Amino acid sequence: MAPQSTDVRPRSTPPAEQFAARLLDILGPLPMGAAGLRGQAARGESRMLIDGELVESSSGVRFRNVNPATEEVVGEVADGTAEELDRAIAAARRAQDESSWARDGAFRRHCMEQFVDAMARNLDELRLAMVTELGCPVRLATGVQVDPVVDKVRFMAGLADGWQEATELPEVSAGPMRTLRQIQRTPIGVVGAITPWNIPLDIALAKVTGALAAGNTLVLKPAPDTPWTTALIGRLFAEETDIPAGVLNVVHSSDHALGARLTADPRVDAISFTGSTATGRKVMAAAAEGLKRVHLELGGKSPSVVLDDANLEQVVPLAAALGCFNAGQSCILPSRLLVPVGRLNECLELAAFGMSSVPVGDPFDENVFMGPLVSVAHRDRVLAALASGLAEGGRVVVGGGVHPDFDRGYYVQPTLVADAPEHGSLIQEETFGPIVVVQAYEDLDDAVRVANGTPFGLAGYVWSEDEDRARDVAGRIRAGMIGINGGQFTGGDMPFGGVGASGLGREWGVAGLDEFLEIKTIAAARFS
Ligand code: NAD
Repeated sequence: MAPQSTDVRPRSTPPAEQFAARLLDILGPLPMGAAGLRGQAARGESRMLIDGELVESSSGVRFRNVNPATEEVVGEVADGTAEELDRAIAAARRAQDESSWARDGAFRRHCMEQFVDAMARNLDELRLAMVTELGCPVRLATGVQVDPVVDKVRFMAGLADGWQEATELPEVSAGPMRTLRQIQRTPIGVVGAITPWNIPLDIALAKVTGALAAGNTLVLKPAPDTPWTTALIGRLFAEETDIPAGVLNVVHSSDHALGARLTADPRVDAISFTGSTATGRKVMAAAAEGLKRVHLELGGKSPSVVLDDANLEQVVPLAAALGCFNAGQSCILPSRLLVPVGRLNECLELAAFGMSSVPVGDPFDENVFMGPLVSVAHRDRVLAALASGLAEGGRVVVGGGVHPDFDRGYYVQPTLVADAPEHGSLIQEETFGPIVVVQAYEDLDDAVRVANGTPFGLAGYVWSEDEDRARDVAGRIRAGMIGINGGQFTGGDMPFGGVGASGLGREWGVAGLDEFLEIKTIAAARFS
């Protein structure tokens, strides 16, 4: 592993190695023992969790799990069918309607806290599965994808018996009748949770913990590209907690149609979906048929706005390189870098340095920030989107293709694009790879206009020496989450979600619990 080159380093920036170290520092120190993961084989988990049992597919069929860094098949996973999905939904329905799960907050908290302990005991297995099947660098696994999720789940477990089920309103009178009024909050019922492959543990657990804490039961259908991580959630709940049979079911499948089937099933009361905007539209349309509650976490094209008073040498290389987080496969990434037009050339040079200095390599190397893309199909999709975007205009400043340093693995070069047309696909569509597009703005109003110039509204980033100025711009960006000067907007108590084409609703935090509750009013008349 090495940064790609130091040739493009502007005089005012540190050597590429120092910059790379700074980038890794953002992820925090490698926990004791995590360095020892290298050379260990992930065991993974092939079974689904249905009605309390860890099971193989009734068809006997399994699908392959491929390590995107080595292109090797690392294991097989039960390939769920419509039959398994049907059993899982029936079990979740029964557990919701016939058990005390929905009414026993203390027991829900107990089971969820057992799961927190199980995660903590099995961190290495979760990290190994993540690094192996996603190609996520070990530093990202420990710094973002796995370890911090334990505390997020702990926060949600604490909510399981803490929400107020009933609120009394002042009574009202009419003649001889007094009415005692109450607002109750109740679980929605059976939740269908559908998740993507890019942040497989955190996203699945946002849905699982919010829904369980609120007293719902669940069928979770993860994406086929990263099945082990989610299958491990099922196993830990089944083997290391007292959760009753049917409350949580995990059905993985190579067949995307199972997601559509789950959405359409009349026994499912609500759908919580994370994935692409295109699939989100289909989910919403299908849920409309049954008039189901939908919660959508969709794509993004988030702007990173560098104000003219920012320390450009410090900020621009970093703001650009952060677009390579998780190899660009994250919905919240700063994939558009907005810089003052008067300093465009200087910013391009600095951003090029940042992108060229991203340490790319073996995900098990603790000094690597970016690994491969998740699959050969996804790599080809990203490069095809880049090529067709460039055909509309724009130029590659750095990168632009398959990474030349690797003879195996689905590696793509960190890529910086300039001069892309504002209404072209490189600005308007998610590429979901390590591609950052630089856009120039005239003044603050124009910066806000450019920032808001896509249908998305997931995240935004503002960089300035003047926090008040940054907060003012943050207030004008249409997005669910804004980071100022690198501030972290994720956490167990921080609601996560977007607006516009980026989705509806919030996960994590109290808002992520409320998402899974219904409101019922009770009015009792008394004549006295
Ligand atoms: P995807 O939309 O292709 O698939 C997501 C899930 O939906 C998978 O489990 C898939 O099997 C299932 N699915 C496919 N077709 C379906 C249908 N018709 N009905 C119901 N389910 C169906 O997305 P992906 O490629 O797995 O993930 C990448 C996308 O997810 C990106 O667009 C990314 O921005 C988005 N994402 C959003 C967030 C967020 O919180 N906003 C977080 C992570 C990823």
